[in-house]
Amino acid sequence: MGGLTTEKIKPWLLSDEVQNIVITTHHKPDADALGSSLGLYHYLTKLGKSVTIISPTDYPMNLCWMPGEDQVINFEEHADRATVITNDADAIFCLDFNDLKRINEFGPIVGDAKAPKVMIDHHREPKDFATYQFATIETSSTCELIYDFITENGHADLIDKNIASCIYAGIVADTGSFRFNSTSSHTHRVAASLIEAGADSAKIHALLLDNFSLSRYRLMGYVLYEKLQVFPEYNTALVSLDRDELKKFDVKTGDTEGFVNFGLGIKGIHFSALIIDRTVRVKMSFRSQGSFPCNEFAAKHFNGGGHLNAAGGASDDSLESTVEKFKALLPEYKQALDA
Ligand code: 5GP
Ligand code: MN
Repeated sequence: MGGLTTEKIKPWLLSDEVQNIVITTHHKPDADALGSSLGLYHYLTKLGKSVTIISPTDYPMNLCWMPGEDQVINFEEHADRATVITNDADAIFCLDFNDLKRINEFGPIVGDAKAPKVMIDHHREPKDFATYQFATIETSSTCELIYDFITENGHADLIDKNIASCIYAGIVADTGSFRFNSTSSHTHRVAASLIEAGADSAKIHALLLDNFSLSRYRLMGYVLYEKLQVFPEYNTALVSLDRDELKKFDVKTGDTEGFVNFGLGIKGIHFSALIIDRTVRVKMSFRSQGSFPCNEFAAKHFNGGGHLNAAGGASDDSLESTVEKFKALLPEYKQALDA
């Protein structure tokens, strides 16, 4: 766990000073983001706090089974109410992100709010906006950190089935079911404890992975058959999707989740990109196998960041020119992509 401690956070959090708590997470929350938020929500509620989760945006429907999900406020739909609650909060927990840019228009509101901020996160290069940090890049997921946070506070006995299920889901998602190299022996120990506390592994896998719309599968077929490009000389794969395609397949939030991994399944491919013309900006996802640094690539060229093997970015250019820019960069990385 890398020596993380709650020594300073705990007395403050448990004091009467902290009654109203806001939890927020990155835009378009995934299972780790929403699972960690809900796991923490149930825990803090058990401590007698009044807790509100504010998501910057909507999230995929395969996460809506998580206990407490119906209590989440979507900032895009309830900006005024979310702002009032945030301004009145005594503490703001920021989960699974480390840069206020990642919560869109909610960012300045959180930044200006008087409450101390607590960052619980596992991404590189945190920005300096939090009073307290419970963060490391050596942990599989923010959900694993929520487990560590609760146990470090001496409250392992408060982890019930609801908490266990939410954080187990996030660990499963961020480790690709315990297969990515971020999975440690500690991750497995945490998972074992969560199962003992009531998390149903098979059921959670099914809820996360066998819970999609037919149109997602139609889109998947189309992407694999017609849209997956391979550049063997650079060991790279690419998928791009424009607005007409998103419309044709009635794409909803979460429907393209995992598509960036298709390319990596091909023998010899070390680097894979998914470029989508989403609502406001062109969004990019990068994945690699081995040493190719997706996060550096994303940060240098596409205003993004993330982890070594999984990163993302965005562009204000058109889809076409973003794709051209991506392709034009590959020769520069030929050596790194060969490794
Ligand atoms: P995804 O491809 O699933 O959207 O994101 C994978 C990882 O890349 C995320 O966990 C996050 O760390 C990072 N990431 C994605 N998009 C961005 C972005 O626009 N900016 C930064 N800094 N990181 C991103
Ligand atoms: Mn995460």
